[in-house]
Amino acid sequence: MNDLLSKIIEKNRHLTSKGKVASYIPALERVNPEYLGICIADMKGKLHLAGDYGQKFTLQSISKTISLMLAIIDNGTEKVFNKVGMEPTGDAFNSIVKLEIISPSKPLNPMINAGAIAVASLIKGEGPEEKFNRLLALFRKICQNEKLGINKEVYLSEKETGNRNRALAYFMKDVGIIDGDVEDVLDVYFRQCSIEVDCVDVARIGLFLANNGVVLETGERIAEEKVAKTIKTFMVTCGMYNASGEFAINVGIPAKSGVGGGIMAAVPLRMGIGVFSPALDEKGNSIAGYGLLKDLSEELDLSFF
Ligand code: GLN
Repeated sequence: MNDLLSKIIEKNRHLTSKGKVASYIPALERVNPEYLGICIADMKGKLHLAGDYGQKFTLQSISKTISLMLAIIDNGTEKVFNKVGMEPTGDAFNSIVKLEIISPSKPLNPMINAGAIAVASLIKGEGPEEKFNRLLALFRKICQNEKLGINKEVYLSEKETGNRNRALAYFMKDVGIIDGDVEDVLDVYFRQCSIEVDCVDVARIGLFLANNGVVLETGERIAEEKVAKTIKTFMVTCGMYNASGEFAINVGIPAKSGVGGGIMAAVPLRMGIGVFSPALDEKGNSIAGYGLLKDLSEELDLSFF
């Protein structure tokens, strides 16, 4: 397996020069675009590694999967989906346009920014700190990594410049999707996006979802099977934003990308995969990461379609 991973890393290396690292969050611009790494966590608990698998990056939108899980654990499915929809958008991840033109005015799904901000508002806790710490505790269990924390520079950079997200949040407050203090809600969201991980952590998130809500290494059930399946379904329909349809055809597995350059994939009852390469395509997905998953899917016959 490690030979296969090294082979596909070399095959996709040229793609790292094709995309651009995210620059709208200033702290993300300072990363070396040539990083390329992969980790597979299999159902025996074994890790398969290649390339820059230990390089740190921030979760960004990958965090939306587990924040949705915590919001459902805290509130139940019905209450969460009263505030956020279940449909793909066809628009960019930070698009504002549909919020106003659809009725009722709720974000279309929890994998776009508007939906994830609405989800963050549903996490229980006293203030933003406590809410975020509950989410972080969940990530630490799932990743089997007590050291997990945030990259403060990225957090502050996003907090300072996240005006598009602010616009989405204030609009949602106005139409009653979000209750409470908008800046507090955004603070939880900016923190969750800034959680610092490597490919191993991300593969373990994938493995946990592949294993239907049970942490494989400890046997602890964190979420009901149905909740894990709901999240994987969102990953298929909305996980790669407005490239989700094409990704389903080319790769055929549930996956969630983030503008930090990571992609988390969950192959049901087979494996979790974490890939990282910071150069992105115009839709905000890692170009070389996408290439790695496409080749891996062909080599190991992973597509479930
Ligand atoms: N923190 C990023 C943002 O809100 C997350 C977006 C992403 O990863 N696509 O813009």
